Amino acid sequence: MSTVSSSRASALAPRIDGRRLWRSLMDLAAIGATPKGGVSRLALTDLDRQGRDRVIGWLRDAGCAIEIDGVGNIFATRAGHDAKAPVVLTGSHVDTQPSGGKFDGNYGVLAGLEVIRTLNDAGITTRKPVGVAIWTNEEGSRFVPVMGGSGAFAGVFPVEKILAERDVDGVSFGDALEAIGYKGALPVGGRALDAYFEAHIEQGPILEHEEKTIGLVTGTLGLRWYDCLWSGEDAHAGPTPMEARHDALRGAARFVEAVNALALRFAPDGRGTVGFMQVKPNSRNVVPGTVRMSVDLRHPDDGKLAAMDAELTAGARAIASDLQLQCEVKQVAQFSACRFDSGCVSQVRAAANAFGYPSREIVSGAGHDAVYVARVAPTSMIFIPCTGGISHNELEDARPEHVEAGANVLLHAMLTRAGVGA
Ligand SMILES: [Zn+2]
Repeated sequence: MSTVSSSRASALAPRIDGRRLWRSLMDLAAIGATPKGGVSRLALTDLDRQGRDRVIGWLRDAGCAIEIDGVGNIFATRAGHDAKAPVVLTGSHVDTQPSGGKFDGNYGVLAGLEVIRTLNDAGITTRKPVGVAIWTNEEGSRFVPVMGGSGAFAGVFPVEKILAERDVDGVSFGDALEAIGYKGALPVGGRALDAYFEAHIEQGPILEHEEKTIGLVTGTLGLRWYDCLWSGEDAHAGPTPMEARHDALRGAARFVEAVNALALRFAPDGRGTVGFMQVKPNSRNVVPGTVRMSVDLRHPDDGKLAAMDAELTAGARAIASDLQLQCEVKQVAQFSACRFDSGCVSQVRAAANAFGYPSREIVSGAGHDAVYVARVAPTSMIFIPCTGGISHNELEDARPEHVEAGANVLLHAMLTRAGVGA
């Protein structure tokens, strides 16, 4: 193995072309551009087709072979010396939220393109092949489930289930996929990967706040979703004395506070959110008899998340008994915490250090394609700061120097895996 000084020297070259990468990001963002500077390019729409066409054109021009699987996932591959070696893959998604930004997903794909272009410019042939994936329907905005393409690739969802999903207009995923010409012949999944690295904006405020350029993503938060139903009794707001009421909204209000206090007891990584509430009958002079509400709990440690779950249920029971209400807490979704591969995380760290970029370990609060790919290949992610931590918003923004730094780290993490020379 090389010495520290020689690995530092080799890590500083090649470097990606930050201005070229930025231009590609802005060119792609023109497809589905919104007046406020964002992007609206929902999965499997004609705009999604235009975005895919453009990126595939760039990848082809960079010498990549293109393959497309049965759910529309796209794989671009740059050959290595060893044709039989599994590919070192990067990528992300190019679909966006209805009022999305220019960077979410698009950055990971175009950083991959920039890696390929840089290897071409430097005349480097890697030992293992390197590739860029564009996963279908990461956002889950038009079709559920979120991260459907990468999930199908990893065997989490059956292909037939993904193809049968319908949007609000009743159009099936399968029909939409065929309509834009992206139903490929390649089987879904079963592709050997040496590793998967995904570059992404943080979508949170931590890196910017701490003035770090690179987030070394060690995993993602585990998540549990609940539907809660508080039941009391509708009653007239005038004639019903305070002590005779069974006010479901009082229970819900206390529960909102309890969920927040619960997350704080599991600080700094615990999260607790009530984001949806429906009050019935929702009339100003009626004591509310029913409240439906959601709870979203997250933690990077599955054991701690289970403890949060137990406290949530006990808290609801205590409030219900105190206020003489009924409360039903039903878990409706669960994602285990994902721990990325320590080898891949180390390779990202080494690349960030070689460039002298300030970095820190970070846990992703959002889901990403990498979470599913991690089930079938050693995986990690590279985060860069985004302005104000704002994402899923037309105002989403990132600084050119951070965009460049993240792609340099991606390039060298991939080079370390792929190896240079025969
Ligand atoms: Zn994304």
